[in-house]
Amino acid sequence: MAPIRFEHTYAGLPERFYARIHPEQVPAPQLIRVNEALAAQLGLDMDWLTSADGVAMLSGQCLPESAEPIAMAYAGHQFGGLSPQLGDGRAHLIGEMLDKDGVRFDLHLKGSGRTPYSRRGDGKAALGPVLREYIVSEAFAALGIPGTRTLAATLTGESVQRETALPGAVLARVAQSHVRVGTFQYFAIRDDQEGITALADYVIDRHYPELLEAENKYLALFEAIAMRQAGLIAQWMGVGFIHGVMNTDNMQVAGETIDFGPCAFMDRFHPEKVFSSIDAMGRYAWNRQANMAQWNLARLAEALLPLMHAEQQKAIAAAEAVLGEFSDAFDAHYMRIFSAKLGLAGNRAGDGDGDNGAFIKDTLSTMADGEVDFTLFFRRLTALAGGEGDSISVVRLFKHREQAQGWLEGWQQLRSATDKVIRGMRHSNPVYIPRNHRVEQAIVAAHDGNFAPFHALVELLAHPFEEQAGCEHYELSPETHEEVLETFCGT
Ligand code: AMP
Ligand code: MG
Repeated sequence: MAPIRFEHTYAGLPERFYARIHPEQVPAPQLIRVNEALAAQLGLDMDWLTSADGVAMLSGQCLPESAEPIAMAYAGHQFGGLSPQLGDGRAHLIGEMLDKDGVRFDLHLKGSGRTPYSRRGDGKAALGPVLREYIVSEAFAALGIPGTRTLAATLTGESVQRETALPGAVLARVAQSHVRVGTFQYFAIRDDQEGITALADYVIDRHYPELLEAENKYLALFEAIAMRQAGLIAQWMGVGFIHGVMNTDNMQVAGETIDFGPCAFMDRFHPEKVFSSIDAMGRYAWNRQANMAQWNLARLAEALLPLMHAEQQKAIAAAEAVLGEFSDAFDAHYMRIFSAKLGLAGNRAGDGDGDNGAFIKDTLSTMADGEVDFTLFFRRLTALAGGEGDSISVVRLFKHREQAQGWLEGWQQLRSATDKVIRGMRHSNPVYIPRNHRVEQAIVAAHDGNFAPFHALVELLAHPFEEQAGCEHYELSPETHEEVLETFCGT
């Protein structure tokens, strides 16, 4: 018998919030990997998860009796244009469970077949995007950046037609919930005040119970969501991450990174870097992500306005004030994160001495001019600060060495060399990130049936801040022929 007893708070909301639908049958489900650490956190038995019954659940073939699969309805602004009807078009929420700390998590399958929200899509996922999401979401967890997690990946035994025929796969995803900004929009577009209120109350209960007593709990909810986003986007930027499709349907209201589609970590630094093949205008470039999050939050505010205040003008003023707070909060997080990365004192919570903003700006523009590798630069700087490296290996990363030398002298004068600050650098500058070319190599090998590079990458990235023997090659930037210039959506 399945050792999981699913609960269903979301499915307890009115029927118009979702469609009841089972995952599709596939010819030959086969397990690729189960996340043992996450299974333990969720109190799930590894022997069962890897058994035929476990794999049947992870691939959506045969669900435990307590499962009540649904596809969630949502809307969303995609690249600025409103789609009133999106929803889980290739995903199923199987149910909820409590982890060891009593936190409620969704188990959600992605690539599990068509639903009433599939539109023209086939409801399937290809192996490549499933492996990419597994690698990146778990790297995020190890980096300490909030995001949905991956419990398992399975092959389906069928091929899915994209530009070519590709192996099909299912990702078993775990998240604090799957409520998105676009979920609120879904009801706002339909003028469904009851729906919005029920959803807002649900989100407060589940993610922000401390707001239950707030004077204006819906305004407080908006503010709390905005504050989590401010911290999240600054964390992305601190590791050179570009989400790629920050549409309102891909922004989750608990503050977890969601829908790791055409996302990527930058190798060579450029503030306007974009990877996604569908982001021709650079809407979601590295340095535009805070602006775009704020834009998305403004769309959330529009949906929540009637709940915030009976008088629309007052509601708008309150929402605008929160959007201003978002900017300030983001700036503060960004400053704190980059100060820590550079080993600068000040701009750290609790000590307001000194503003590192100008130096951070100058650093990033020197990095861009010098076309340096983002991760290697901060790592070598950390080694230099910690006494294990030298300045040559930092300067050598830059195209213009004289400029780099000048920058480095400025840094030496400004930086703090206390143990605490150097420790801070070690904890904020990872040795290993999921470099695009490594992710790509893992996918290419998997297409040939060789999953060893995928497993090796996942295991390496579980400890991103520790140098691991024999893994030096994972630190390096891609050779020109290895460079990945573009990434593609999961679709
Ligand atoms: P995304 O940009 O990947 O987050 O997806 C946007 C919307 O398209 C969501 O409603 C997805 O469920 C839907 N979608 C993406 N891929 C597929 C697919 N292969 N089949 C059906 N729906 C899909
Ligand atoms: Mg999405």
